[in-house]
Amino acid sequence: MRTGIATVCLSGTLKEKMQACAVAGFDGIEIFEQDLVTSSLSPEEIRALAADLGLSLDLYQPFRDFDSVPEELLEANLRRADAKFRLMSRLGMDTILVCSNVATASIDDDGLRADQLSRLAALAGDHGVRVAYEALAWGRYVNDYEHAHRLVELVDHPNLGTCLDSFHILSRDWDTAPIERYNPEKIFFVQVADAPKLSMDVLSWSRHHRVFPGEGQFELAKFMGHVARAGYSGPVSLEVFNDVFRQSDVERTAVDAMRSLIWLEEQSAKWLDANPAPAGTPGAGRRRYPMELSTLPRVAEPAGFNFAEVRAADTAALETLLGRLGFAFNGRHRTKNVQLWTMGHARVIINEEAPAAAETAIAAVGFDVDSPVIAAARAQQLRAPAVPRKSQADEEVFQGFAAPDSTEVFLCQGSDDGTAAWVAEFGPAGQDTAGQDTAAGPSGARNAVIDHVNLAQPWQHFDEAVLFYTSALALEPQPYAEVASPTGLVRSQVMTTGDRGVRLVLNLAPLLQQEGAHGSGKPGTAAARPTYQEHVAFAVDDLVATARAARGRGLEFLPIPANYYEDLDARFALDPEFLATLRELDLLYDRDADGEFLHFYTATVGSVFFEMVERRGAYDGYGAPNAPVRHAVQYDHLHQLKLTA
Ligand code: MG
Ligand code: MG
Repeated sequence: MRTGIATVCLSGTLKEKMQACAVAGFDGIEIFEQDLVTSSLSPEEIRALAADLGLSLDLYQPFRDFDSVPEELLEANLRRADAKFRLMSRLGMDTILVCSNVATASIDDDGLRADQLSRLAALAGDHGVRVAYEALAWGRYVNDYEHAHRLVELVDHPNLGTCLDSFHILSRDWDTAPIERYNPEKIFFVQVADAPKLSMDVLSWSRHHRVFPGEGQFELAKFMGHVARAGYSGPVSLEVFNDVFRQSDVERTAVDAMRSLIWLEEQSAKWLDANPAPAGTPGAGRRRYPMELSTLPRVAEPAGFNFAEVRAADTAALETLLGRLGFAFNGRHRTKNVQLWTMGHARVIINEEAPAAAETAIAAVGFDVDSPVIAAARAQQLRAPAVPRKSQADEEVFQGFAAPDSTEVFLCQGSDDGTAAWVAEFGPAGQDTAGQDTAAGPSGARNAVIDHVNLAQPWQHFDEAVLFYTSALALEPQPYAEVASPTGLVRSQVMTTGDRGVRLVLNLAPLLQQEGAHGSGKPGTAAARPTYQEHVAFAVDDLVATARAARGRGLEFLPIPANYYEDLDARFALDPEFLATLRELDLLYDRDADGEFLHFYTATVGSVFFEMVERRGAYDGYGAPNAPVRHAVQYDHLHQLKLTA
């Protein structure tokens, strides 16, 4: 698949954008007119730079408001087009995007439109230019891609074809199957963009909320499958207007963009495999298409969490917290300055090799996968930056890479019984056995596992993170929620596996909570991390017993306001004794049609806290109605600390 990207997707000058596109590995680019107009480079210099960078200049855009106008306006439009065609010849470009008229259209007559497009095509032919006509979703009279294509067929000129833009098609819910029957020679260009499903006017949706494939909710693999079956083999080019990308680091946005196309290519191939063309259609019985779709190393979704690793600035506080929670100290690593703490099958590593100034934070998450080598190869092909880990010759080598928020993601060999071979590298536990009774004791923690990991995301990398975990780890994004906190709404995106063996929660914190997240935020730098709190949650069989035992060891719970329990009683009419237990132990509660959820939170160390949960029945949520309570109490707590400091 030939890959492309419109310069409007990126921040910076035209030169910076072009360099970033070349580094990210794109085959070609679309030149957005404003980027050219504001550039100090001459058209000839741009052409030479593109040649030096190995980028083809695939599309000049946009040319607006051409069709459906009175004759005198049309003559002015043809003069305007003539100037652009001359400019394109200096750039060495041969395809221009003409979008359907939104502003000056005053005549709704397909015969007239065809005649006007035919005159444009004839003029373009004189300059060796191809006109790719696109129906904007908000075009005055032409806003349906099939309508635009009918006009192209009516004109039937070799210099006029159609441009298919996934946003304009899928935002209107148009059926994409008819694309299969198009003459591929009449499809001049294909643009792709994803978007979250929003209820708003389509122009604002398009201008501000487009995202790269895999970061939204459109059925892009299906769209691409139909395009491939039509026989199209030209560029597939990203055209993403997005307020965040346009102010983010240009090089990393270009890599994020490239990752989205690599992933889309694989998903499209998968869609084609799973959806054979019906008998009697042009694609029937075909397995290969002119658009050659590359695939990636195939991975199953991860089976579960292997471990969570906390980088410790305050080791003693973490040790106390884990011990009181009921974790057992499993000793130190024999060569590294790290400790292992376990509860049931839940493993937490305290890493003391942190730079002195670093805050206590979640540094790494290990996932159980079928084959770490295959999963690592896949991540590498998706441009995930590798994070090599030093290890001795006889120690297990983890394949790892850096997630967009710089959390290190490790791919571990899963095992059916929930054990991990690397645990043998730790020990002996020595005299520090704060919580060893829990393995056999009455606290209900014997079967403890990591239930979910909640990672705070810097605002500028949130969409990138969604695509990263979707593409590299095969996690599936669930519909996102917004949770109220004292400093603003927290956008919460749950990513899971089908069997819920892995639940990862990405939280986009309000800007105020991200103070300290300065700079360009290159992956792997401490500055990429927000100061917002994040946590690891552990599931146990009997939360009340776990909470009681923890309280007995002196664990500091997040104190829950009395008002919460009154509200809880009003909503659920709980058994008074049960309600009293919840209140006594600072437990939170939720219930839905699937089951019940009990949980509590610990105090925070650095930016990390822990949560204990118990899922009853088939409860599949995270206690979202309780999240505002947690945010408010944590906020209060932080403020009191500041006041007493
Ligand atoms: Mg477009
Ligand atoms: Mg978090």
